[in-house]
Amino acid sequence: VNRAKRTGHTEIYQSRIFALARRQFGIETELRRAIETGRMRLHYQPICDLATGKVTSFESLARWRTEDGLELSPTEFIPVAEESGLIVPLGRWAIEEAAKTLAIWDRMSDASRDIRVAVNLSAIQFQRDDVPALLREVLSRNGIGGNRITLELTESAIVADPDRISQVMQALKDIGATLAMDDFGTGYSNLAYLQRLPIDVLKIDRSFVAGMLADPDKIAIVRAVLSLAQALGMRTTAEGIETKELAQTLAALGCTYGQGFLYSRPLPPDEAHQFLVERNA
Ligand code: C2E
Ligand code: MG
Ligand code: MG
Ligand code: MG
Repeated sequence: VNRAKRTGHTEIYQSRIFALARRQFGIETELRRAIETGRMRLHYQPICDLATGKVTSFESLARWRTEDGLELSPTEFIPVAEESGLIVPLGRWAIEEAAKTLAIWDRMSDASRDIRVAVNLSAIQFQRDDVPALLREVLSRNGIGGNRITLELTESAIVADPDRISQVMQALKDIGATLAMDDFGTGYSNLAYLQRLPIDVLKIDRSFVAGMLADPDKIAIVRAVLSLAQALGMRTTAEGIETKELAQTLAALGCTYGQGFLYSRPLPPDEAHQFLVERNA
């Protein structure tokens, strides 16, 4: 049943992507136009300190509303963007958008002054683009400090070019950015990179967190990641927290931050600001 269900989902995704590809210009042109015409948006999901419950940052997540009224998920269009190379302009746009949103929030109230926004960057962005130079320029033009930005990268960025990523990460640290390793535990890299690279936060993948209360193997993995992070002086974020019980357990295990539908789904910028004001009051 499960397998049939998954196949069904894949078919829906494929037909949605094909519907776009059938249009006159094809999906790559559609994607480029979406970025240029404001059909690509960032939504913001709060990340809370598990000990206090206060919001400390937001993760920005791309949303694409097509001209046909479809709401495409990043799991559908990020792979297309990576294959076509459009991930580079998409990543540039995301950094710009995140900085602008922070500047808008800062004008709306004092609530966002110490709040960071995290931007997801694909491995390809780090290979093909000068991310530190871009970040420096965007931040200074928007009047935002480097300490307000987190960059989320995956193990694939390290595997692709370990020497280059090490230099890039150091340059990002020099700007003041926070560096988070996304989907930790799902990649194929060698753990030795953890002691060489200036990583601040390990994000424990939702596949280990959701359902861990009913699964001793998952709890064992989560505990191991937490003690590894602690030994290396890194903070931790648990993804996919949907229940209070899970948040309490993770707090008791010493996890630093939590993110998930328990707190909020990813929200448009105005609603995210409102959430912040109410939650941190
Ligand atoms: P991610 O970076 O690991 O982001 C977390 C994903 O988990 C998001 O899915 C978020 O909506 C979802 N999520 C958060 N809390 C919960 C929960 O409690 N339950 C469940 N079931 N899901 C939860 P989303 O927005 O569909 O993004 C999927 C992936 O697409 C992201 O995974 C990230 O790898 C990628 N992505 C999203 N936006 C961007 C972007 O701007 N640039 C790049 N390069 N990748 C992006
Ligand atoms: Mg992420
Ligand atoms: Mg993640
Ligand atoms: Mg994930």
